Amino acid sequence: MALVTAVLHRGVVDSDAPLLCADDLGVLRGDGVFETINVRAGQAFLLSEHLDRMANSARRMEFELPAKEDMAELAEQALEAWRERADGEGALRLVATRGREHGGPPTVYATVDPVPRERILPRRDGLKIATATLGVNADARGEAPWLLGGVKALSYASMMAVTRWAKTQGADDALWVSADGFALEGPTSSLLWLEGDTLCTTPTSAGILPGTTSAYLLEQAPKAGLKTVEKLISVRDLKNAEAAWLSSSVRGVAFITQIDGEVVDQRPDITAELDKLAGFEVPE
Ligand code: PLP
Repeated sequence: MALVTAVLHRGVVDSDAPLLCADDLGVLRGDGVFETINVRAGQAFLLSEHLDRMANSARRMEFELPAKEDMAELAEQALEAWRERADGEGALRLVATRGREHGGPPTVYATVDPVPRERILPRRDGLKIATATLGVNADARGEAPWLLGGVKALSYASMMAVTRWAKTQGADDALWVSADGFALEGPTSSLLWLEGDTLCTTPTSAGILPGTTSAYLLEQAPKAGLKTVEKLISVRDLKNAEAAWLSSSVRGVAFITQIDGEVVDQRPDITAELDKLAGFEVPE
């Protein structure tokens, strides 16, 4: 059960109480959008950026989210209850579905949960990853908007499937690879790597989700003396990178230790800088 549940225009509700109707399109078709946001010191980190991305995801799926102020108020109602009930790191999830099958407004709610320790251990221990084909070329999703590249839709079943598959390969997580051999992103994370003094990430033209964490890291990177660039990288080159990371709001910055069983170099000094820039605490 979520520690906190809040519903748009209703405020905080009992997390055990029924919330969705059986014909909600979010359930029937994964037809909706969501965000997962890091909560620290009782506040949502990069909330405005997440709300903008969520509105953009909904627009791309041709339904309107409530106004940004209303979404922010929902988040604040949930966070207020969270501050009364818990401290430490949390995950605020905002969900908006298209609503019920026969029409009506979107279904919009928020939950806040503590972040389990195992989810943040990769900040300390790193991640072994297994590459998995996405089945389309890096430029395919830009030309086919119905593939929903760059949209954080609720339909994450294939993201969960590839994560389970990666575990059967002895890895901790997967990395999507385009049919033409480019490393794109993790199923729930963005890819970053180091080339000399340049912090690199995948361009959004490759249909990846624009990560709020990776964007923030690239924006802040000059403070650590790093240049930044968005570019494509082949899996072969990624395996030879000076260092590589997966980043996301809840997981933070996790360095990659192996790709398909091959050891990847690491730069603990840069990892520490990235944690510091984005304010991620590394567990003991
Ligand atoms: N890419 C995908 C497909 C994701 O699902 C996520 C987050 O869940 C990310 C990247 C990282 O995004 P953020 O840093 O905004 O959490």
